[in-house]
Amino acid sequence: MATSQRMLRFVSVEKHMPEKRQAAARISDFQEIYAEFEASRAAEQAGRCSQCGVPFCQVHCPLHNNIPDWLMLTAQGRLEEAYEVASATNTFPEICGRICPQDRLCEGNCVIEKGFESVTIGTVEKYVTDQAFQNGWIKPIRPPRENGKSIGIIGAGPGGLAAAEQLRRKGYRVHVYDRHDRVGGLMIYGIPNFKLEKPVVERRTQWLIEGGVEFTLNIEIGRDISLAELHKRHDAILIATGVYKARDIQAPGVGLKGIVPALDYLIASNRTGLGDRVEAYENGTLNATGKHVVVIGGGDTAMDCVRTAVRQGAKSVKCLYRRDRQNMPGSQREVFHAEEEGVEFVWLAQPEAFIGDGHVRGVRAQRVHLGMPDATGRQMPQVIGDSHFTVEADLAIKALGFDPEDLPVMFAEPQLELTKWGTIKINHRTMETSIPGVYAAGDIVRGASLVVWAIRDGRDAAASIHRSLSQPQAARTQPRVLSEAVA
Ligand SMILES: Cc1cc2nc3c(=O)[nH]c(=O)nc-3n(C[C@H](O)[C@H](O)[C@H](O)COP(=O)(O)OP(=O)(O)OC[C@H]3O[C@@H](n4cnc5c(N)ncnc54)[C@H](O)[C@@H]3O)c2cc1C
Ligand code: SF4
Repeated sequence: MATSQRMLRFVSVEKHMPEKRQAAARISDFQEIYAEFEASRAAEQAGRCSQCGVPFCQVHCPLHNNIPDWLMLTAQGRLEEAYEVASATNTFPEICGRICPQDRLCEGNCVIEKGFESVTIGTVEKYVTDQAFQNGWIKPIRPPRENGKSIGIIGAGPGGLAAAEQLRRKGYRVHVYDRHDRVGGLMIYGIPNFKLEKPVVERRTQWLIEGGVEFTLNIEIGRDISLAELHKRHDAILIATGVYKARDIQAPGVGLKGIVPALDYLIASNRTGLGDRVEAYENGTLNATGKHVVVIGGGDTAMDCVRTAVRQGAKSVKCLYRRDRQNMPGSQREVFHAEEEGVEFVWLAQPEAFIGDGHVRGVRAQRVHLGMPDATGRQMPQVIGDSHFTVEADLAIKALGFDPEDLPVMFAEPQLELTKWGTIKINHRTMETSIPGVYAAGDIVRGASLVVWAIRDGRDAAASIHRSLSQPQAARTQPRVLSEAVA
């Protein structure tokens, strides 16, 4: 079939996602909810692309992936080449294909979305890369030559790993440090299996190790070694530590047992799934089995908590959020999946107290309506008088978002400048922090964001580090002396 006949088929071919497992089946395990495409289906769906002159999907993909090109190659059955194109701009296409909120990024801006449903960009990206793994097309990184320079990366999340890959390709010795015992950051310990199965992350870790990236785990920079000490070992440092200070709620009864932070709950579940023995899971503290669960918050973390609780066999799962469905930060697709799985959403509800005697037994809340927009343009929730109600809860999970930890204190490095939000201040052209030779990327720069943005930042930081280290010594910014304090 000629290329022209293979493409632009959105008029005659309807949008199809790969088969989605029925809610009743998928809540009995933690496996991903979509099956893989059949080869012919992937080609057919890729052929719906209209190959438009200005591909808005590409513009709105944080990595500016050459989407129309790899869709065309997929439609032509040239999968190895499609993978080459997809991986030229994205370090982990199979991960983004699974967990990007495509409705807000590439697919949400697909030109055919206006009259026909968008091309299934994410699932084709996932399919192409999974095929590349299965067929052995993904080879370990082999730099043409070692350049004798060494980079230290703090944080083995997507930001740190994307930078590691790019720098290793250029012949740097790359050493990644992480305080966790596994590589992957929130892709391992935050995001549940039903969105991203852990072997998908683990095979990438293995690929990086085979390519010569070195990892030291269970080491916390600031506690076990100072930033200054680490900097002495490497020609440049990248901080990609993410944001982990959970926002809290001020309300009477918040200290009762059974009220837990979202990430503790998700880490316990993910660790258990990975085969670790987690005492707080086994003794029921971080386990929803047989409980009435209330999750407070409306972001993706809240969605992951409610869907985890359903899978753990909770008696009931409710999500309390102070805005409405249209104004929630979480992906609409995730809300839809959660509703299918039996989660009840209580919109426009603001918790005011936790009830119980020693252990939480309920969350008292008030109804709100959305008032005038604030300076950011978001409508502010306003409490409706005398509208109290109580929802039963044996486990209340606080999923109110994350702020950065105090890195200058943690790292004993007062020279590290922050923004007013507590994120690391960088020169956005070079990604360098206020300390010469120390760069930063990912959530610790942006605030809580997305895997795809962390990948983008990691790649940009790697390019900037390489530019700087490729210059003659005299042309580089001279490093200021770092403080020698060890925390
Ligand atoms: C529950 C949850 C669900 C999410 N779902 C999605 C989703 O569906 N799609 C999506 O795109 N994004 C999602 N995100 C957001 C996404 O996971 C993050 O934006 C992304 O992981 C940020 O990458 P990062 O590399 O900046 O940081 P992280 O992934 O947080 O990695 C930082 C790493 O640094 C390590 N570290 C921190 N401090 C130190 C230190 N002092 N010393 C040594 N190591 C340190 C940490 O242990 C961690 O491994 C989700 C986030 C959460 C919490
Ligand atoms: S990386 Fe994310 S936004 Fe970009 S094409 Fe892939 S799924 Fe879409």
